[in-house]
Amino acid sequence: MDDCIFCKIIKGEIAANFVYQDGDFVAFKDIKPSAPVHVLIVPRKHIDSLSVATKEDQEMLGKLQILGAKIAGELGVGDSFRLSTNNGKAAGQVVFHLHYHLQGGWEK
Ligand code: AMP
Ligand code: ZN
Repeated sequence: MDDCIFCKIIKGEIAANFVYQDGDFVAFKDIKPSAPVHVLIVPRKHIDSLSVATKEDQEMLGKLQILGAKIAGELGVGDSFRLSTNNGKAAGQVVFHLHYHLQGGWEK
């Protein structure tokens, strides 16, 4: 996807503050954090949003959740975090490359 900002980050054409990378996913700090810890977990595969993911993506989506919990632990928020996706404009989706917000670090 030529004009997708997250594809550009994945390809290294736009800088990001990466906290994790593997063959299937990247995770980087949200440029406008809305929690003390706020990173985005993004599959390398361009999928517009969760609602157009298919059965082919099932294993990847499972891996993403386990990875989210692992990254939460590495970032020190493993006991209290939110892992969520905004699906569609009305739900607040702005970047149409599937991604999950990992947010945490609130006062206990
Ligand atoms: P959403 O509203 O779910 O589509 O989330 C998009 C998120 O991407 C927002 O929280 C933005 O702050 C974040 N974002 C947009 N551009 C960048 C960027 N270049 N680097 C890091 N985060 C970004
Ligand atoms: Zn993309």
